[in-house]
Amino acid sequence: MRRIVIAGNWKMNNNLEESQNLISKLVEGLSKDKMNCEVIICPPYTSLSLSANLIKGSMVKLGAQNMYFEESGAFTGEISASMLKGTGCEYVILGHSERRSIFGEKDELINKKIKKALSSDLKPIFCVGETLAERESGVTNEIIKGQVHEGLNGLSENDLGKIIIAYEPVWAIGTGKTATPNQAQEVHEFIRKLISDKFSFAAADRIVIQYGGSVKPDNAKELLSQKDIDGALVGGACLKAESFLGIINAA
Ligand code: PEP
Repeated sequence: MRRIVIAGNWKMNNNLEESQNLISKLVEGLSKDKMNCEVIICPPYTSLSLSANLIKGSMVKLGAQNMYFEESGAFTGEISASMLKGTGCEYVILGHSERRSIFGEKDELINKKIKKALSSDLKPIFCVGETLAERESGVTNEIIKGQVHEGLNGLSENDLGKIIIAYEPVWAIGTGKTATPNQAQEVHEFIRKLISDKFSFAAADRIVIQYGGSVKPDNAKELLSQKDIDGALVGGACLKAESFLGIINAA
């Protein structure tokens, strides 16, 4: 049985006061009973320290939304893996489609970041996904295969055990258009097969593959009940405690 992981990507939202309010409501609303899912929040850099303090003693874990692959130096505006680790991060989102499309990040750079995260004891949430044009021209599998192979290039099976893959069809992110459970399951199964071919059946069987793209409390249950969907990477719906809790409860 794979674990279920629900992660919230806050993107560029929430100042310190708003972060405090959201986390307080989230921690308060989480069931005190043992839950069978892992919960991660990924606030902006400026709220990481505060968040680390506020989630202490709760089941919530901390992640960042990006990082650079160098250790330190003249990289204005960037942040390193060890800085994230120092604030209490356990996870880091890498290769998000907004990083790819708005900031021009390519597979090779994402691969360097994944390697640096792993060697710094941070667990990557590695995002892959096709655009609408790619889906409509029937090249979804080809695109996913390229992103998975290049992103995970040079990693060992042991490394893979620390990675979560998030399948996020770009056309479903922030658009309100969710992939149908069947559409999502099809790609998740394909990703698991890629991992099995590249690493091993055991590695494929173990790896957590999240779905992301307009996940909400009312569609979470059906998506999460698919055989190869092991959690959700949530954008818009994680900005309100009630809707994020709704998704966690569905899991
Ligand atoms: C995301 O940004 O990773 C995401 C899935 O966003 P949304 O849930 O808003 O589609």
